[in-house]
Amino acid sequence: MFWEKDIETMDVSELRELQLDRLRTILIRANATPYYSQIYKQIGFDPSDVKSLDDIQGLPFTSKNELREHYPYGFLAVPRDEIVRMHSSSGTTGRPTVVFHTMRDIDNWANLVARSIYMAGARRSDVFQNTMGYGLFTGGLGFHYGAEKIGMMVIPSGPGNSQRQIVFMQEFDTTAIHILPSYALHLLDVFEELSLDPKKDVKLRMAFIGAEPHSEEMRKKIEDSYDIDAFNSYGLSEMCGPGVAFECPEKNGLHVWEDNFLIEIIDPQTLKLLPDGEEGEIVFTTLNREGMPLIRYRTRDLARIYPDPCPCGRTHRRMSRIKGRDDDMLIIKGVNMFPIQIETALMKFPEIGRNYQIILETVGHMDELTIEVEILTPADDMRVYERLRGHIAEAIRDEVLVKPKINLVQPGTIKRAEGKAVRVVDKRGKN
Ligand SMILES: [Zn+2]
Repeated sequence: MFWEKDIETMDVSELRELQLDRLRTILIRANATPYYSQIYKQIGFDPSDVKSLDDIQGLPFTSKNELREHYPYGFLAVPRDEIVRMHSSSGTTGRPTVVFHTMRDIDNWANLVARSIYMAGARRSDVFQNTMGYGLFTGGLGFHYGAEKIGMMVIPSGPGNSQRQIVFMQEFDTTAIHILPSYALHLLDVFEELSLDPKKDVKLRMAFIGAEPHSEEMRKKIEDSYDIDAFNSYGLSEMCGPGVAFECPEKNGLHVWEDNFLIEIIDPQTLKLLPDGEEGEIVFTTLNREGMPLIRYRTRDLARIYPDPCPCGRTHRRMSRIKGRDDDMLIIKGVNMFPIQIETALMKFPEIGRNYQIILETVGHMDELTIEVEILTPADDMRVYERLRGHIAEAIRDEVLVKPKINLVQPGTIKRAEGKAVRVVDKRGKN
């Protein structure tokens, strides 16, 4: 059941003591970095004054901006030759952020991923196909090392080449897979093209899904279509990558590995700390990292903490699935919404396919929201479409308070992404 029972079920007060102990160490270690040593000087902070976990609130937040400004080595706490690995965030705009690991950091990270997937039920007898990108992105290598640590046979298939993915599943009896949720849905089409049934023709029993925000409905769709258990994985390259928080068999929130990460939830506007249960931006402090300690790192991810104990017996608090990045929030006709809310509404309709796009345009100075979605089975009677469009538009309006235009298109019309799915096309101000 447990990879490290002592740590996973540690008494809460002991866990807080361990956190405090590690926090003190990490704050001292951070003083060796060019960036934090300068901050400590500026605000007159002495790490040896720290008496409780709350004392961290005396320190400023660290954000992507600081990582960029002090690129590449401003956050390094060890000599460069102790670093064995570099990773980077996807960096869609401007300079990417880079993260460095010592050998011990890599071992520790692999252990966290092993702990996570073992918790979900992965065992050494499993055959694990890793369809995430290898390289600078942490998803591929992070899971690879963790799965090997458990002793699973790893197929480092990487992303794309969908037919080959299915051939591998069949020929090597893949039982566990790491996959983007949108790609898991995309693969269903490929199964269909090959006249194969993902429920019967492969031996998959579990999937680890992550790296893009997705709704509970999306998870259910994946579980039902493949007849598997799908577990939500959360991580970010600035912490390590996958292995920061993960779902246990209860599938009700993700246990944050609090022996390694100190979690705070803040109001992203006022930057005030929020109590457990309230939704806000996740802020993490690395408690167990050598190469590149990060203090109060603002993730831009929105979630809340479930304070009550989990029936599985683990004492590390759970966080909700993330609602999206702060930056993903759309403002349409003055109303705030997240793409995941639209997905939640869409997934309730069995008549429509898995692929959709949210299109934003300016029509006569006004925002217009159009949802383009593929129908699953073409109907002869146009009135069927008419009714369906009406029902979908209402379901979305109930969820986000703005009524969209619904554009039903033939299966295969919306361009498939083999990486992260492009869900939002914002043409406002461009036409
Ligand atoms: Zn649990």
